[in-house]
Amino acid sequence: MAVVLGLSSVFALLGLKRPQLSRYILLMLVVLVCFSAMLIKGNQGYNLAWAFICPPLSIFLLGYRRGAVISGLYLAMVVGLMVAQGDSWQATQWHGGALANIIMIYLGLFAFACHYEASRRSSHEHLREANAKLALLAIQDDLTGLYNRRYIEDLLLNSEQESIFVAMVDIDDFKSINDRYGHPVGDEVLKQTAHILQDVVAEEGIVGRWGGEEFIIVHYADQPSVFVNLLEALVQQVRQRSNQYGPSVTISVGGSTYYKQFHKASLHHVDHALYDAKESGKNDYRIVRHAYHGDLLL
Ligand code: GH3
Ligand code: MG
Ligand code: MG
Repeated sequence: MAVVLGLSSVFALLGLKRPQLSRYILLMLVVLVCFSAMLIKGNQGYNLAWAFICPPLSIFLLGYRRGAVISGLYLAMVVGLMVAQGDSWQATQWHGGALANIIMIYLGLFAFACHYEASRRSSHEHLREANAKLALLAIQDDLTGLYNRRYIEDLLLNSEQESIFVAMVDIDDFKSINDRYGHPVGDEVLKQTAHILQDVVAEEGIVGRWGGEEFIIVHYADQPSVFVNLLEALVQQVRQRSNQYGPSVTISVGGSTYYKQFHKASLHHVDHALYDAKESGKNDYRIVRHAYHGDLLL
């Protein structure tokens, strides 16, 4: 009987791919073996200690609720057995069989505890990995792998520096690339442009996707001239390198200084500079200079 149940449990797990069924059969097997030992030998050789195997095993295999139900039923069976047969039981003797019983039960419980700890650790590790992925998804743009708008806005609002240089980049006539080559090629152009921008900005700043075919760059330059050089390089590099990967594209770039006290107004200035670049014929950059005096951004 025990062998049949053992094989059925393995078959349910590996053959039928039904782990829950396999757990039930395994539990039935252990319960049956332990109970039979008590039924046949009563309290001889400290046999009743086999009853302790059931609660941890059933809760481990079936979870709190079902495990508690099985444990309760099992306790009722054991108590029933004691009530029915207890009067005829003799005082138990200490001998080799009793020692073997105690050691096997001890090792069985020890093995459950180790297995439980191993599976707890493994699910904890899975959870940690899933959380790390979610955290990345929350700040990353799917298509380009750049930071998303939420992340960049948080970064700006929480920056330590009083003023930072910010640039907005927009691909010129991108709609016509989609129209002419199709959306998947448009996506590829977005990825490649993102790659070039990141390459040019390198460690000097952070590139993010603002939305659609617009990117934002946070630049930690200490001199305006360094920022201007970066904008020039961005326009030039995209123009020169984009056709290596697909249809050639150009970008327009607007730049300005960002003050976190004036978050919206600062970004509006950057946008305005980008608008200027578009209006002056695209494929170029423009800067809006401003400074803040007291409560005013001029
Ligand atoms: P301009 O030079 O004035 O910027 O013109 P434009 O065509 O680049 O700008 P417009 O705003 O008219 O078009 C932007 C297009 O970008 C429209 C939209 O379908 C496309 N777009 C936005 N997001 C994506 C995307 O994730 N993938 C692709 N392939 N296209 C996108
Ligand atoms: Mg646009
Ligand atoms: Mg555009």
